[in-house]
Amino acid sequence: SSRSAARIAAREADTANPCTIVTADSGVPLVTGEYVDYANFDYAASAPCLTSVADALSAALPYYASVHRGAGHHSQVSTDAYERARRSVARFLGVRAEADESGSADAVVFVRGTTDAVNLLARAVPEGCTVVVFESEHHASLLPWEHPASRAGEVVRLPLPETPEAAVSAARAALAEAPEGPRLLCVTAASNVTGEIWPVEELVEAAHAEGARVLVDAAQYVPHLPFSLAETGADYVALSGHKLYAPFGSGVLAGRSDWLSAATPYLAGGGATQKVTEHDVIWNDLPARHEAGSPNVLGAVALAAACDTFNTQTLFLQHIREAALLERLRAGLTEIDGVHELTLWGAEHARVGIVSFVVDGLPADLLAAALSAEYGIGVRDGLFCAHPLTRHLLPEGHTQAVRASLGVGTAEEHVDRLVGAVADLVARGP
Ligand code: PLP
Repeated sequence: SSRSAARIAAREADTANPCTIVTADSGVPLVTGEYVDYANFDYAASAPCLTSVADALSAALPYYASVHRGAGHHSQVSTDAYERARRSVARFLGVRAEADESGSADAVVFVRGTTDAVNLLARAVPEGCTVVVFESEHHASLLPWEHPASRAGEVVRLPLPETPEAAVSAARAALAEAPEGPRLLCVTAASNVTGEIWPVEELVEAAHAEGARVLVDAAQYVPHLPFSLAETGADYVALSGHKLYAPFGSGVLAGRSDWLSAATPYLAGGGATQKVTEHDVIWNDLPARHEAGSPNVLGAVALAAACDTFNTQTLFLQHIREAALLERLRAGLTEIDGVHELTLWGAEHARVGIVSFVVDGLPADLLAAALSAEYGIGVRDGLFCAHPLTRHLLPEGHTQAVRASLGVGTAEEHVDRLVGAVADLVARGP
């Protein structure tokens, strides 16, 4: 159609001239393409770069060098930037500098993202550790425990709980029934499918009462709300930079250092070693122990800049603004015939800015393609790397869903455009 031809032309012009700075109406500026007419509803997949992140990257770019290994000026600058980044991340996540009654002090290990972080922990838990996980998890938190390289013993997969309270009691019962010895509960703080916020503090309390530890997958939570290890009492947290408006394959695993420092390094290689002889190797201490290879300095700098921008106050303000946009979106979609929202605990349960839905008679992939081509709206379609959860939530007759996720660049106009576009497409029919 002429409408989609105009969109394609605008996109081509944009590709030829990227990186225009657009100030989002949230007041948190982003770097994005000139194709400002684009209504991005795919923040949950990867969020665009903040200008503060781009500025930090430009400042670090001329100096990047291998950290911790060189005496030269650039190496020193990069080493400082890398360790400063670690401190920013530690602040952002409320890392415990001292041991407390539940365990050792925390380490902050730079990794490639949440998937990497969970795989690292799966190889670092004590041999035979029982792991309890809900079937609702993203595959990144569901699967690493059963990978051949994992040191976990029994992996207990709990069915989808009908209420948050049921989640807490099911987790507690499973941990109580598990054999004596180390036990870990892995849980998401905010679902990437429904946006629903899980009762992390209650789960931590229940797990600790049974002598177990908790890993929180905070990939979808930290771009929307503050998360603190010290305040929640959680033992580990994992996140991805690219979901927090910081590109370049960076992420973090932070938490109790004892299991991490007792484990064999995640990767064998330079940086993870203290001394290597013909017959022996002495591994390094944390965090270098699990950061073998030349680290992603720019990724760490980018992630830290995002952490510094999203202080607690900015995140709370952002959350309030986003909650209003989310309500507007949900209210608009609910009024359209044949639209069904996917939720586990009901639409009124607390959530971050994510709505997944299906439309009767309009397959999700076609709907997503039409939204992009005709209306300049970017959503995600599919099962969102959380197949068991999404399949369970799909109404009869649907095999995939559409996900609209919000972020600092989302404006009312985008929401209204999405609602209007879905209404148009429904009216037009398949
Ligand atoms: N956990 C959740 C809840 C996610 O939404 C995602 C990404 O989609 C991940 C983990 C995996 O993150 P990454 O692909 O950055 O490793």
